[in-house]
Amino acid sequence: MANDLFNSFMTGPDENGRFGEFGGRFVSETLMPLILELQAEYDKAKTDDTFWAEMDDLWEHYVGRPSPLYFAERLTEELGGAKIYMKRDELNHTGAHKINNVLGQIILARRMGKKRIIAETGAGQHGVATATVCAKFGLQCVVYMGAHDVERQSPNVFRMRLLGAEVIPVTSGRGTLKDAMNDALRDWVTNVRDTFYCIGTVAGPHPYPAMVRDFQSIIGKEVRTQMDRAEGRLPDTLIAAIGGGSNAMGLFYPFLDDKEVNIIGVEAGGKGVNAKMEHCASLTGGRPGVLHGNRTYLLQDDDGQILEGFSISAGLDYPGIGPEHAWLHDIGRAQYVSITDVEALAAFQKSCQLEGIIPALEPSHALAHVMKIAPDLPKDHIICMNMCGRGDKDIFTVARALGFEMGDFA
Ligand SMILES: *Cc1c(COP(=O)(O)O)cnc(C)c1O
Repeated sequence: MANDLFNSFMTGPDENGRFGEFGGRFVSETLMPLILELQAEYDKAKTDDTFWAEMDDLWEHYVGRPSPLYFAERLTEELGGAKIYMKRDELNHTGAHKINNVLGQIILARRMGKKRIIAETGAGQHGVATATVCAKFGLQCVVYMGAHDVERQSPNVFRMRLLGAEVIPVTSGRGTLKDAMNDALRDWVTNVRDTFYCIGTVAGPHPYPAMVRDFQSIIGKEVRTQMDRAEGRLPDTLIAAIGGGSNAMGLFYPFLDDKEVNIIGVEAGGKGVNAKMEHCASLTGGRPGVLHGNRTYLLQDDDGQILEGFSISAGLDYPGIGPEHAWLHDIGRAQYVSITDVEALAAFQKSCQLEGIIPALEPSHALAHVMKIAPDLPKDHIICMNMCGRGDKDIFTVARALGFEMGDFA
C-alpha cells in the first residue's frame, strides 16, 4: 500500500484510481474515452497556476471564502469538556460546501470547451450550486433529480428553475439520488461531445473521487491556518458528517499525515443501524460492491441489490460512500460512527439555542457526535467540526419531526 512505501496517506489514488481495493473505473467502453479525457485535463489543471488563480479569485469574491473558524463558547461551556470549534462552510454562497467543488469542475468544463453541464442531485443542494455557477458563466444546465426528491424538495426545484436550469424528474428505480446518478451517467454517454458531468460528491469513477476531494480540500487547508492563528497548534479531533463524503474528505485530507490528529466521520444512523436497514451507514452497516463506477462499501441486500437507506436528512441518504473513506476505514486511519435521527435533531436544537446557528440536518449529525464525546475529553482537547450547511432548507422537516404544523406559528 502506498502509505507503507512512502509513509504518507496523501499519495492516493494510484494510476488506476484505486485507494487500496476501493475506487477504480468501472465504466462502459463508451464512457472510457470521456473519463480519460477528463483525467488528462484535470492533471493539466492541477499544476497550472492560472487555474488555481481563477479558483482563488472566485472562492474569495463569489463564494465568500475563507469561511470563518468559530469558537463555540457556550456549547463548550455547556458540555464541560473539550474546546469546540466550527468551520463555518454554511456561510458560503448557496449555503453549503457544494459550491467549492462545483466551481472547480465548471472552470475545468470551460477549459475543455464544454457548453452543456449535467448534474445529479438528491436534496437539491448540489443541483442549486451547479445551476448557480452555470448561470454565472452562461452555460446550459440540466439536473437529474429523483421524482420522489422533486416532490420532497420543491423549494430547491424552484430555485434551480429560477437560475435557468432544466430539472428532469427521474422515475426509474425508486426515484431517488441513486437513480438520478444512473440517468446522468446515461445522458453523458449519449451526449459525449458537448457535455460535462459535474458530480456532487467524492464518488463516481476515477478521477472524480480524487478531483472532488482536491477541490473540497480548501476547507481543511483553511482550518490548518486558522487553527494555528487561534490556538497555535493543530486540532486534536476532526469531525464531519458523511453522505457521499465530500465535505468530510475536504476537512480530513490536509490532516491525513498528522497522525496525532483523530479523524471521525459520522454516518446517518436513521432509526438505528440495527433496525432493518432504516439507515444510511454504508461503512457501519454495508459491505463492498460496485456502484456508479467505483468499488466501495454499499448498502445492499443478500443478493447484492442496492438498498435505498433512510435518514431524516435528505443530503445523507446515498447508499454508498466515497472509496477513499472505505480505504481510510479499512486501514484504520479514520474512525466511522453513526448518529440517529433523534440524536441529530437534539444537536440541531442545541446549535440554535446556544450558538444562534441554525444548522443543516447533515452537520447536525457531526455536532451530535461532538456532543457525545466532548464532555469526557479534557478542557485542552480541541475539536473542529465541519458546519457544512445551513438549516433554512430543513426547517419544515424539523417542524414536522418535533410535532408542529407550520400553521401553528401564525
Ligand atoms: C450534500 C450535503 C452533504 C452530503 O454530502 P457529502 O459529499 O457527504 O459532503 C452534507 N451536508 C450538506 C449541508 C450537504 O448539502
